[in-house]
Amino acid sequence: MGNLVAIVGRPNVGKSTLFNRLTKTRQAIVNEEAGTTRDRQYGKSEWLGREFSVVDTGGWVVNSDDIFEEEIRKQVLLAVEEADVILFVVDVINGLTDLDLQVASILRRADSPVIVVANKTDNHELQYNAPEFYSLGLGDPYCISAMTGSGTGDLMDLIVSKF
Ligand code: GDP
Ligand code: MG
Repeated sequence: MGNLVAIVGRPNVGKSTLFNRLTKTRQAIVNEEAGTTRDRQYGKSEWLGREFSVVDTGGWVVNSDDIFEEEIRKQVLLAVEEADVILFVVDVINGLTDLDLQVASILRRADSPVIVVANKTDNHELQYNAPEFYSLGLGDPYCISAMTGSGTGDLMDLIVSKF
């Protein structure tokens, strides 16, 4: 048993980039195109002397929208079952999507704490896009940029406070 953090969300929001940052590895494949990674990827992380595992529910290969949504559903349900903390990644550049709302409807029923991570907040102006994510019904969106690392230290503080 350990502390397990699951990273979920629709494709291309930056889950694997965040995974790499949290685990300081380049294990996860970061893709320029949506829906091209496969499998779940586990890694180890440590913050303020506290160790935890991270799972990137990265990816899938998709041919149809139905399979696509079904796969996301499957990954989110697995995360709800196994994770102690769930990072629900959304994207302030592309904004709220229907898939985000579908993921949120599952996560609202989760027992484990869910942190809405508003990724791609690469600059201050982009923070103004975050309030739309309140409509996910999962609390305050937490602005970070997985790419630049902005906000990820505070996110780690928040994560370890949940164990
Ligand atoms: P995933 O499908 O959710 O795992 O997303 P990836 O981590 O593969 O990233 C998808 C795309 O978003 C890639 O082009 C990344 O470089 C980009 N990306 C990830 N994080 C950020 C970020 O914080 N800011 C910006 N601008 N792009 C990002
Ligand atoms: Mg990925």
